[in-house]
Amino acid sequence: MCTNNTDAIISVFHEPNKHLEIVENKIPEINENEVLVKIKYTTICTSDLHTFSGRRSSPSPSILGHEIIGEVVESKRKTDDNGLTLESGDLITWSVYAYDPNDEIAQKGFPQKSKSLFKYGHVENSEKTPLNGGFATHFIIREHTTICKITKDLPFPSLSPINCTHATIQGAIRLAGDFNNKKVLVSGLGILGLSACAQINEKNASFINALDLDKNRCNKSHDFGSNKSLINLDDIETKYDIIIETSGNSKAIENCIDKLDIGGKIVLVGSVYTQPNISISAEKIVRNLNVILGIHNYTPIDLINATNFVTEFNQKYNFENLVEKEFKFENINQAFEYAMSNKCYRVGLTH
Ligand SMILES: [Zn+2]
Repeated sequence: MCTNNTDAIISVFHEPNKHLEIVENKIPEINENEVLVKIKYTTICTSDLHTFSGRRSSPSPSILGHEIIGEVVESKRKTDDNGLTLESGDLITWSVYAYDPNDEIAQKGFPQKSKSLFKYGHVENSEKTPLNGGFATHFIIREHTTICKITKDLPFPSLSPINCTHATIQGAIRLAGDFNNKKVLVSGLGILGLSACAQINEKNASFINALDLDKNRCNKSHDFGSNKSLINLDDIETKYDIIIETSGNSKAIENCIDKLDIGGKIVLVGSVYTQPNISISAEKIVRNLNVILGIHNYTPIDLINATNFVTEFNQKYNFENLVEKEFKFENINQAFEYAMSNKCYRVGLTH
């Protein structure tokens, strides 16, 4: 039986650039293997802003929001993905999607692309799919969602971006392979780029250079492990073994590919919005033995590793400071206005 007798409060996205509507929503009985969560903290992800501003289409009415942490209210699932018992009151993070593990694509190792993918914060809010977005008081985690218990000792603003920002970078790092003694460039120094600097800094790279047009963002990257920051790639002669590209900007990607050393790899992370096609020299890629990789979302192990990383290194890198402004959940429209008109790493919502 559901132990929560109150209704949830949700913020409903109807159409781009219109205020989110705050309404009550009944909390239904949860099904086998589902978990009812009381949301404790959410951060507004850049993709929420893309949806809100109409740059990305999304079903409506829906509840946006997917960078979340929450407390278990009721669990019909025994354990999290580390095998730890799930109980009421546990603080958890969970993957941005639920998938069918028997799906052919999931079986190939790409659960985030399985045919029956259910992507939280991007689905219609209906009786069939209730409470599946982060900008609400409650959330229902569906079967086959990766769940990790997290410590309550760390600041919530540090923990909230684990399941989107940090897990995605874990995926990029997994694709890039061994960083030992490698010359690394991180391109784009929003929260994804800073996460990449920090996570790579623990992997014995030879050095990490960081690239962004914004001087303040360049300077910030030094607190997250970059050895040198650049506003123009041509300022130095260096070629790179591994480049993590988070800006998604076509010109930046072309310039980065041009700076790959023999055998160098580039992982594209930021190209999740429409940009002009890039122009590359296939001959140069072949002769230089280069590899171009893409990562979109992540796999269960990436979320587990991201959770472990933030838990271990939160103090060293001060992820808490990347939430530059906080609003109460009921003031979500103010929070969106602020996030749309200020270039923040993250805006946080307290619940
Ligand atoms: Zn996100």
